[in-house]
Amino acid sequence: MVDETPLMRQYTEIKKDYQDSILFFRLGDFYEMFYEDAKIASKELGLTLTKRNKKMDVPLAGIPYHSASSYIAKLVNKGYKVAICEQVEDPKEVKGIVKREVIRVITPGTIIDTDYLDEKNNNYLMGILIKDKSIGISYVDITTGEFKTSKLEGKNLLYKLLGEINKVYPKEILIDEKSLNFLQGELQSNRILEKINITKVQTMRNPEKYLLEYFEIQSLDSFGIKNNDDIISVCAMVLKYVVDLQKGNELPIRKISYVSTEKIMELNLTTQRNLDIVENYNRNDSGTLLGVLDFCKNSMGSRYLKRILKNPTLDIDEIHRRQNDIEYFINEVLVREEVREKLKDIYDIERIIGKLTLETVNGRDLVALKESIKNILEIYKVLIKNNSNILDLDVEKLIDVYNLIDKVIIDEPPFSIREGGIIKPGYNEELDELRNIAEHGQDYLLKIETEEREKTGIKGLKIKYNKVFGYFIEITKANIDLVPDYYIRKQTLVNAERYIVPELKEYEDKILNAKNRISTLEYYLFKEIVGEIKNYIEMLQELSNKIAYLDVISNFAYIAIKNNYVKPEIVQEGEIEILGGRHPIVEKLIPAGEFVKNKVLLNENKDFIILTGPNMSGKSTYMKQIALIIIMAHIGSYVPADYAKISLVDKIFTRIGASDDLITGQSTFMLEMSEVANILNSATNRSFIILDEIGRGTSTFDGISIASAITEYIHDNIKAKTIFATHYHELTELGERLKRAANFRIEVQEKDNKIKFLREIVQGGADKSYGIEVARLAGLPKEILVNSKKILNILEERKDIIEQNFGVEQMMLFGNTPTLEIKKEEKKEKVETISEEEKRALSILREIDINNFTPMEALLKINELKKILN
Ligand code: ADP
Repeated sequence: MVDETPLMRQYTEIKKDYQDSILFFRLGDFYEMFYEDAKIASKELGLTLTKRNKKMDVPLAGIPYHSASSYIAKLVNKGYKVAICEQVEDPKEVKGIVKREVIRVITPGTIIDTDYLDEKNNNYLMGILIKDKSIGISYVDITTGEFKTSKLEGKNLLYKLLGEINKVYPKEILIDEKSLNFLQGELQSNRILEKINITKVQTMRNPEKYLLEYFEIQSLDSFGIKNNDDIISVCAMVLKYVVDLQKGNELPIRKISYVSTEKIMELNLTTQRNLDIVENYNRNDSGTLLGVLDFCKNSMGSRYLKRILKNPTLDIDEIHRRQNDIEYFINEVLVREEVREKLKDIYDIERIIGKLTLETVNGRDLVALKESIKNILEIYKVLIKNNSNILDLDVEKLIDVYNLIDKVIIDEPPFSIREGGIIKPGYNEELDELRNIAEHGQDYLLKIETEEREKTGIKGLKIKYNKVFGYFIEITKANIDLVPDYYIRKQTLVNAERYIVPELKEYEDKILNAKNRISTLEYYLFKEIVGEIKNYIEMLQELSNKIAYLDVISNFAYIAIKNNYVKPEIVQEGEIEILGGRHPIVEKLIPAGEFVKNKVLLNENKDFIILTGPNMSGKSTYMKQIALIIIMAHIGSYVPADYAKISLVDKIFTRIGASDDLITGQSTFMLEMSEVANILNSATNRSFIILDEIGRGTSTFDGISIASAITEYIHDNIKAKTIFATHYHELTELGERLKRAANFRIEVQEKDNKIKFLREIVQGGADKSYGIEVARLAGLPKEILVNSKKILNILEERKDIIEQNFGVEQMMLFGNTPTLEIKKEEKKEKVETISEEEKRALSILREIDINNFTPMEALLKINELKKILN
């Protein structure tokens, strides 16, 4: 129902354009919410729901404007959009309704109040545009101005996209309807939507023009994205969204950085999760690589570390540069400690720059910037003195900024920029004069008070102040007879009367005016200085990158010493050799010194390791440790080993266990096979693959056959460096038969019918599965163990019979070589007695054109055939 009052008409008019947002409608000292907004706000924020107009029954909830930030943050973090509607006229100067406008809309991906953001994480808004053969993505953090874009191409685009989403980890995704329809199912089944909000948008007609106008440039060449339509579209889509929400407020976005995915190691969603790179997906709190590596002193450093960890570089020169810089800090212990100590006292300049542009900066931020510059210059001096040019600064410009702030802003300014007390004395003459009046006004009042006492002879005469009357003279009832004629009575109290005199009023105007003038002038001067510092924004943005880099590098040096890491030798191509390698996360979880070191060598002669060993013997730990060491080497870090030589790896793939299958709720076998299909489609001979227990989701014979077929495919066609862990000791036959494959096992010691894990990798395959011993270790009741031993013995006795009923290819897996003669005869017999279903399956089989089949399609076909036969 529509309220009749003009105010509510204004509200309805404004709300019309912000249907999808909660409208914070400014009324004096409050933001009010009405109707549905009020109901949501009262529920989400625990506010009392009242009614604005009893008759009209309008639900209302309100919050004081000065504490709005925390309420906004709460709503936005829950996924709501909040539109801030302000009074844009001075109520004192207008008759009737004050004009109101929405001045900003805040969404999860566009929060600008950094007080409510996690300092170690970027707050990204990500745009996605899915095309037939490529996907454009771009993401922006409007608190820092970082704006990046990439194009995903090639096979398995959706897998790549999921990997990118997980890397960027945006708070909000912008997507057009068509792309969303395509993606929704994937996002849901991979549980990506839990912490990410989706906003549907439309793509733009003329995106290139929009970008050129925003950046005020002639061509997109300088960003390296010219003629790249997908990227241009997705960048314009994201930029327009944030620009529109800011309603004309300037943004710190100064450029688009194009990130070529070719220069970055591909880590898909599953791999990021399996390796616990920055997040522990299993929530068993067993640590992450980021946790081991992040001892940065500064939030800019922590954010930078996270970024490079998710995007290991394939630029060998960049890796060498980082290694050299780390080496410097390893050798120069004192310099390192001094630098790290000072890094601690550098504020988050990156976010201060954002605030500068968004005009949300206050005096304290500027002082923080000044202090940071001082510390940075000190670091610079230390480094130069010690022959390092790792920090390359424009010292003059920095000193300029320092002086600008130092000259103007007092050392401990208040939080608010509207109430004065920010500008240093001596900076502005007019301000000094006004302050003089305001300060000495008090003395003057005392003077008037004394004079009036003398004139009237009333000893108890007092000058007081309240908001209604301003300054007045108060005289107790007992002295009323002595009050002179020219006193003008203003108010009568029980015991006293209050008067004013013209002189008092004149001065009052002066003092109050001065106070008002001071805050206005200080605000103006503050904004002026902000404007001047803004000229240095690009230099400051670069500066924050340099500081982040310095922090990460000195941190790597610190970690290398602390954790006893070595510098890996990085080569463009060739082998991966690690001696005395350790798992960086697991070694921290067990008592110091108890981790058993292991080696690995993968080269052109041997690039496929079949790793056998009982459950819990350490297979996954071993494989993951190699993957983690490879990643660490690619970000420039030293690694947990005695020696390491790492050739560049373009992609790491992992197919591990079943833990995440439970979470996503997909059929285990189907999920396993689609992941394997993705690996087989995407891996190259420069990739590193970990396969853990492939084929576990189906019966043993199926499992073994699929596992061996996959092994052969990778070995023969892809030639990626691969480690395949299995407790099917039957697979070791492949290790002997395939040319570049080798068998390794994790050594266990058997004594008195019990096993002890030695955790050591040795050449050769395991000859049995040890499942029952592991069950014993896990504490299964004794009678079950005894019984399963009996069953095992029976099965082993019947092995021959089972094998006779099975196909020749699978028997090969067990190391037997049955004569093909017999096999053929058997087949003949079988063909003669086939059922209708079998006939159907056979005819489907005959029609298949293998040349046009992907591995995934093949698997699906096999599945279909099996269904028919069952
Ligand atoms: P698997 O994959 O063979 O089932 P895991 O790799 O999960 O076994 O290892 C089981 C546990 O054994 C790990 O959680 C870890 O505590 C311990 N472990 C593994 N490798 C080592 C090692 N090299 N040194 C010490 N402990 C290890």
